[in-house]
Amino acid sequence: MITADDLAAFRDLVARAKLYVLVTHVNPDGDAIGSQVGLGRYLLSLGYEVRIVNQDVTPPDLRFLEFDGPSGEGYDPARHDGLLDAADAIVLVDNSAPDRLGRMEAPVRLRAAKTFCIDHHPTPATPWAVNVIDTSASATAILVHELVREGEWTPDRAAADALYAGLATDTGFFRFNSTSPRAFRVAAELLEAGADPTRCYRELYERNTPAYTRLLGRALANLSLSIDGAVASVGITLAMIEACGATGVDTSEFTTPLLAVDGVRVAILFRELPGQKVKVSLRSKGELDVQRMASEFGGGGHRNASGIVMPGGFDDVVARVTARAEALASGGR
Ligand code: 5GP
Ligand code: MN
Repeated sequence: MITADDLAAFRDLVARAKLYVLVTHVNPDGDAIGSQVGLGRYLLSLGYEVRIVNQDVTPPDLRFLEFDGPSGEGYDPARHDGLLDAADAIVLVDNSAPDRLGRMEAPVRLRAAKTFCIDHHPTPATPWAVNVIDTSASATAILVHELVREGEWTPDRAAADALYAGLATDTGFFRFNSTSPRAFRVAAELLEAGADPTRCYRELYERNTPAYTRLLGRALANLSLSIDGAVASVGITLAMIEACGATGVDTSEFTTPLLAVDGVRVAILFRELPGQKVKVSLRSKGELDVQRMASEFGGGGHRNASGIVMPGGFDDVVARVTARAEALASGGR
């Protein structure tokens, strides 16, 4: 729930600032960009200046949300540190964890006194000046919508699409167990404001390259199952990515067909990164908590969807994380 204190803090933010810089986590997803664009368009409608600056540029499949601005800029200290100094407020959107700011962690921490955080991820303690954190919200887009609604603003079409896309992607198009009556209420309001669900789906999921589909096929062909089929995993090596010409493609949706295998309760995608690192994507069903195991390895996320970037050789990371997931699926925690 958004509280009266949250609303008062947001009113104060909107009253005091003229130049806002919005930042989100590394590898921004639909909720990150959608929430930034939705909030950004609200602030623009009030006549303020808004810049979106993220460690990573907006991935191609999310750029449709930015067609009418504002659009994300990749952080460059030479270009942006002065802007961060000039900003009246730095708003963290869909991220409260300092380390998930990546290269922006130090510059934002340095200016923590003027930060305002809007997020739905559980983070034990944050260094940010004001925190509107509601872990019961299915998406940050819900929080942005509820905050700007109090400002008596009806999202314009572009903001409605952006917030809808954020909400839809974080709920797996309204199927994850984070889906709630509140999520449907906000979705209904966004549709009334002109959001186009068919367009959002098409732009998000029907723009894959042939290379993406070939890489998906290769990954799925090597499906591993253990614990009587409760744990499913696939791996993607740099060599596979290169062989398919799939450099730079986002593979986190590869976990979906793993969860679709009957009996699977934990799905793991291992993706080799350059420089002896592995990105691990964890998904689970029901009460099984992959966030706890992710945090043991230095990652985080939500109960049923978490991620880790682990240093180490590919086979070694696969062995360690798989063993931990097998313990979880066998009745451990
Ligand atoms: P994905 O597997 O799609 O990259 O991430 C799933 C979820 O896990 C994300 O929504 C995010 O909340 C979380 N997550 C992913 N990678 C990391 C990471 O490296 N560190 C932390 N703390 N959380 C992550
Ligand atoms: Mn989110």
